[in-house]
Amino acid sequence: MRPWGTLVGVRPSKQLHKLLDEGKGYNEALAFMQQHFRLSQEKFDLLWQVCLTERPFLRESSRPKVFSVYVGIPFCPTRCLYCSFPSHSLTELNQLRESFVEKLLFEIKATGQMTKRLQMAPYTIYLGGGTPTSLIPEELEAVIAALQEAFPGKWREFTVEAGRPDTITPGHLKILKQKGVTRISVNPQSMHAKTLKIIGRHHTVEEVYQAVKYVREAAIPVINMDLILGLPEENAAMVAASVRQLLNFTPENITLHIFSPKRASRYYQNQTAYSLPPDSEIFAMQKQALALLSPQYRPYYLYRQRNILAGLENIGLCTTGHECIYNIVMIEERHHIFGLGGGATSKIINADLSLTNIATPKDVRMYMERVEELLERREKTLIKALQES
Ligand code: SF4
Repeated sequence: MRPWGTLVGVRPSKQLHKLLDEGKGYNEALAFMQQHFRLSQEKFDLLWQVCLTERPFLRESSRPKVFSVYVGIPFCPTRCLYCSFPSHSLTELNQLRESFVEKLLFEIKATGQMTKRLQMAPYTIYLGGGTPTSLIPEELEAVIAALQEAFPGKWREFTVEAGRPDTITPGHLKILKQKGVTRISVNPQSMHAKTLKIIGRHHTVEEVYQAVKYVREAAIPVINMDLILGLPEENAAMVAASVRQLLNFTPENITLHIFSPKRASRYYQNQTAYSLPPDSEIFAMQKQALALLSPQYRPYYLYRQRNILAGLENIGLCTTGHECIYNIVMIEERHHIFGLGGGATSKIINADLSLTNIATPKDVRMYMERVEELLERREKTLIKALQES
């Protein structure tokens, strides 16, 4: 039996939160999860730790007039092997960048006017993608300035997912620091040059070191670093070596993903060309990585994906007091999120805690054509949800 038993779905923590809402304690909740889903003790304990960490943030954020904003910048320097997101390359970026940024600034302004009309307050802001640092510093500055004007007030957290280390320059960091970014992601995925080549990242291990150095010099308070376990031709010893290298950077957050083949990825279209580690090796990779990170890093959120190798889960870990609040509210879906830009999803929470998702197109040209219509739909859905709350 697999560790998650018969529990399916991306967000297993939602099940446990429901039990906690009903006032169930550890033993009662464990018995329920074992009886209904044959969940292993190990995964229950992981869920328990995650849910208890999340609950204060959920209490703080789960109010009808509070929202977070996600901005999708759908451009990347190259396409990673495992990516299912049709982000646009730098060549396309050069043709579309100006008009995309212009439309995005319009969408940010219009959303700000809507939230002011409805007397709502911003909570966290997340600039993701794609790779936001694919934009030149001046464009990034314009986007952040528009966000600050549209959503005034003190944000609880402001993340920029720089992601690709080769896009992060001192020029970008100067802007991010000036604009009050509190968290930045620098994602190596692996610290092995051979693997980086296989997965098409087109950056070097040295560029990871350089990017972290720039971020530390800019004194952005929190760095997150992502690794993917189960990449082609990697083994547990290689993952452990990557984790040890990450520990040298003392990042406040480390996210351990498990490779998850997606239909729209380059990997899926050419699977026979790659050799993935067997499940037993994936289990060993995760076990060793978690052992190396414990006890200074604690899990604070998790999610699963369809086809995730060995049926495991992606785990976000943090040092004390450095949970990424946006990740928590995004996974638990008890808080309105307005997804702006390309390939972003708005999540409007209804009075009964059900959810209405509104996605913006991933294709930049389609996004630009449909912004007005999406704004209208988002506002109508939100007003209905607020009236019923
Ligand atoms: S950085 Fe992320 S969005 Fe960009 S190609 Fe790689 S996986 Fe896709």
